[in-house]
Amino acid sequence: MFAEIILPVPLSGVFTYFAPPEMEAHIVSGSLVRVPFGKNHSYAGIVYRTLQEAPAHIETIKPIAELICSEPLVRPGQLQLWEWMAQYYFCSWGEVSRNVLPAIIRSKEKPPVRPQKRKAAEGSSGRQALHPLSDPQQTAYGQIVQSFREKDVCLLHGVTASGKTEIYTYLIRDTLRAGRQVLYLLPEIALTTQLTDRLKRFFGDSLCVFHSKISDRERVNIWNRLLTNDGYPVILGVRSSIFLPFSDLGLIIVDEEHEPGYKQHDPAPRYQARNTAIVLATQHGAKVVLGSATPSVESYYNAQTGKYSYVRLDKRFEDAELPTVVPVDVKELRRKKLMKSIFSPVLIEHMQDTLARGEQIILFQNRRGFAPSLVCKTCDWTPKCRFCDVSLTYHKNTKALTCHYCGRTYVIPKACPDCGDNGLNAIGYGTEKVEEEIHTLFPGVPVARLDTDTSKSRKSLEEIIKSFEAGETQILIGTQMISKGLDFENVRLVGILNADALMNHPDFRAHERAYQLMSQVAGRAGRRRTPGEVVLQTSHPEHPLIQSVLQQNYEAMYAMQMEERALFRYPPLFRLVEITLKHRDEAIVSAFAGEYAARLREKLGDRVVGPDRPAIGKVQNKYIRKILLKIELSAASTVWRELLEQVQRQVGDSAGFRNVAVQYDID
Ligand code: ADP
Ligand code: ZN
Ligand code: ZN
Repeated sequence: MFAEIILPVPLSGVFTYFAPPEMEAHIVSGSLVRVPFGKNHSYAGIVYRTLQEAPAHIETIKPIAELICSEPLVRPGQLQLWEWMAQYYFCSWGEVSRNVLPAIIRSKEKPPVRPQKRKAAEGSSGRQALHPLSDPQQTAYGQIVQSFREKDVCLLHGVTASGKTEIYTYLIRDTLRAGRQVLYLLPEIALTTQLTDRLKRFFGDSLCVFHSKISDRERVNIWNRLLTNDGYPVILGVRSSIFLPFSDLGLIIVDEEHEPGYKQHDPAPRYQARNTAIVLATQHGAKVVLGSATPSVESYYNAQTGKYSYVRLDKRFEDAELPTVVPVDVKELRRKKLMKSIFSPVLIEHMQDTLARGEQIILFQNRRGFAPSLVCKTCDWTPKCRFCDVSLTYHKNTKALTCHYCGRTYVIPKACPDCGDNGLNAIGYGTEKVEEEIHTLFPGVPVARLDTDTSKSRKSLEEIIKSFEAGETQILIGTQMISKGLDFENVRLVGILNADALMNHPDFRAHERAYQLMSQVAGRAGRRRTPGEVVLQTSHPEHPLIQSVLQQNYEAMYAMQMEERALFRYPPLFRLVEITLKHRDEAIVSAFAGEYAARLREKLGDRVVGPDRPAIGKVQNKYIRKILLKIELSAASTVWRELLEQVQRQVGDSAGFRNVAVQYDID
């Protein structure tokens, strides 16, 4: 007998081995085995399937060295999903499997971990009943249930604080009653804390939380329990939870479906968990709810074209009013010399009033650190990372310069290394600087900062959120981490300090993202009885995107975006494939990219854009070139996929080009 094995290596396909007769009866799809690989390596890998017939090249086939665990570690459905991911996202099976498997495999290789004693399930008596739904919520809930008769995916477009979460709890209840599992996806672990508390009240121990910061031991326990048939019925988790061994999913909720946190950029597989969740749901015959106050252009397009059903919730719970957004023209204020700090006089006035009333403030600045860069007063020299093509961020608290791409830190030079002048100016500002200015302006007011620097551990993250919730801190300063579904009762004022910086990214989704961020942060204001206020500082109050935010007009933003995407051939109207090439030698990567693009162009013509040297042309000492493909949705994907593979092989095999790394990122 032979077996095809999935190995944790970045090579495509599965690897065939010979199963010795004594193993034959015990090896099944999903078993864990150890096999020799290459000259003197060995790997633990999962059996994809067993083969009775001898494959070609039988003389080179090696035997399986050891059967580590005969009982399947993964379900057949998972293998199917991995196969789809490897094919769609252009990566190897090993890259897909290593996302979740390492901890599970290690646990089998070591003496078995003792399973944690399971807490006795709280009877349903220990749980509350669900909150009764308001009329608009009831209507939306009914529409979703109705829509599931015809379509598998429903986009729930509900303004912030309309009570989408309450609607989800009813859908979860229905699914549990039908005896099936629920996967509740969140873009970020910052959100799991608040939501776990909410959902535990209704679902008690049926609920299990899965994210990147749980221990390996917990991970293994959750995995093992899901493999048994009395696994958890409700899993609340971040994007990697789509890899868990579900037995019978009835519902997948993708909350804040527009969030970029669902996309994994590095390492491979570079997948979109929202889209993968829809494939997973199809496998299980499950329904999907995509929920958002600011849907992604892709999902809204799918709803418009009838692929998804669409349910809208325009009212906040208990008719709470949406916040009013006040634009402040900082360009004008600067001209009149009225911008004395980061804060405009209007914002300072609003802050004083809010603090005087004992209410809370959120300040949004999407940059961490003190200043995005330092500049020499005399010669304009700025410190850059030696390994990446980016300027270093100045962190005043830790007295260091940090590269936000590779994480390296540098000491701050006493004098300019170029001209010897000893004056370096800070340019721009990040959350640290905002915090410092708040201390000066409002001494004694308790302030907290929520960004990746302050919330490295799960505990510090929870503490920041809990103490703001409890009113112990009055001002919360944060990066995009604060824009996501957090629910604070007493926040009256939200300040968006620099709207322009949000819009100036070299990315076709930048404006969509800026709209989403601003609307979402704005949505944190006045979620209950008192209406909230938002002060939005910008140099371009007349810009159509800013106008759409001021009017809270999603459709206007969508229409503008669709026009641009049609014009420049971007998703959702075209498929986008980004090819990234990396090498230590700039001449080599440049020659490779030229050759690669030329060969593609022979077949694909002007669908090929580039190669270009991206704005950040070097990361981790590797030079980068990018090629974009913009392909019609109607084109059969097998055709261009095969072409890419073929060209990569041809160009990659020529002398001198062997070590160029090639990455694909779809859409
Ligand atoms: P969304 O997810 O749409 O932003 P939430 O579900 O967080 O909105 O609801 C906003 C607030 O209103 C929450 O604090 C929630 O507890 C409350 N709320 C919403 N619907 C109900 C309901 N039917 N009964 C009681 N409280 C509700
Ligand atoms: Zn200088
Ligand atoms: Zn760097």
